[in-house]
Amino acid sequence: MRAAIMRAFGEPLRVEAVPDPEPASDGVVVAVRASGVCRSDWHGWMGHDPAITLPHVPGHELAGVVAAAGPEVRGFAVGDRVTVPFCCGCGRCEPCRHGQTQICDADFQPGFTAWGSFAELVALPRADLNLVRLPEPLGFVEAASLGCRFMTAFAALTEHGRVAAGDWVAVHGCGGVGLSAVMIARALGASVVAVDVDPETLELARSLGAAETVDARAGDAADAIVELTGGAHVSLDALGSAATCRGSVRSLRKRGRHVQVGLLLADEREVAVPMDRVIAYELELRGVHGMAVSRYDALLRLVETGAVDPARLIGRTIALEQAGEELASMGAFAQRGLSVIEL
Ligand SMILES: [Zn+2]
Ligand SMILES: [Zn+2]
Repeated sequence: MRAAIMRAFGEPLRVEAVPDPEPASDGVVVAVRASGVCRSDWHGWMGHDPAITLPHVPGHELAGVVAAAGPEVRGFAVGDRVTVPFCCGCGRCEPCRHGQTQICDADFQPGFTAWGSFAELVALPRADLNLVRLPEPLGFVEAASLGCRFMTAFAALTEHGRVAAGDWVAVHGCGGVGLSAVMIARALGASVVAVDVDPETLELARSLGAAETVDARAGDAADAIVELTGGAHVSLDALGSAATCRGSVRSLRKRGRHVQVGLLLADEREVAVPMDRVIAYELELRGVHGMAVSRYDALLRLVETGAVDPARLIGRTIALEQAGEELASMGAFAQRGLSVIEL
């Protein structure tokens, strides 16, 4: 198969011919049709992820067709159109036995713990647990775009935020996951106030359904949100920084729920949050790591109804040969749609 190989951190990926993977006895090999390029891939490429060993193939937002299946696989067969969550479960640990595959103790993450989908073929273990069948009308490119940012936004709003129609939802940071959250919250019947530092991005958030927008450069975003909404019922830090985390907590009304979506890395791993406010307002603080594979049905139904259109977040499709260049460009926080490799 052809694969975009990483032989050294921070150096250009090269498309090379390498041996085809074989399916595990309980796994499949998927012929990749589309694979999203994500900032997490960039972190991996830069050497920020200790799970990655070289040589390596990135890629975790994939959709494709089953090309080979191990003898123990019962629920899937060659030719099935499928995707997987970026965090696959082992099926044996306590979180997996409770259905929480996204926080598996021995998780398999394509493109991190093993070779991923910047390739013609990718091997995926424990297919009966982890694979998700794609509904016929959903294209591969759109399906690939659901597997990471969209899915995490959906879990943040439904499972953790427990958003109800009529709620005010604040979204701090309108990158891929933030804009996904704007769209999904709107589809759930909530009113959204979107926060960002870029006027064009705020305009985009408005076009995707945000009722209000706040330019964080203009002053204290939390104060502005409280002024506009009386305090949000649910607030997401969709960027991942000490400032947006604290701002998200401070923008809540009493008994509101903060969901930490953006990763807190490097020297912002530990954030001082106003715990006095958490007590006085009886706030809830939640973290979201991804979405359990069992929740895919609900997410796909929302897409099928047309209430959300993930295609609106796709910026462009590229060839496998352009994957390395695209990855290298993700160091800058340039605002644009998602890039998806099409094979
Ligand atoms: Zn991703
Ligand atoms: Zn597990």
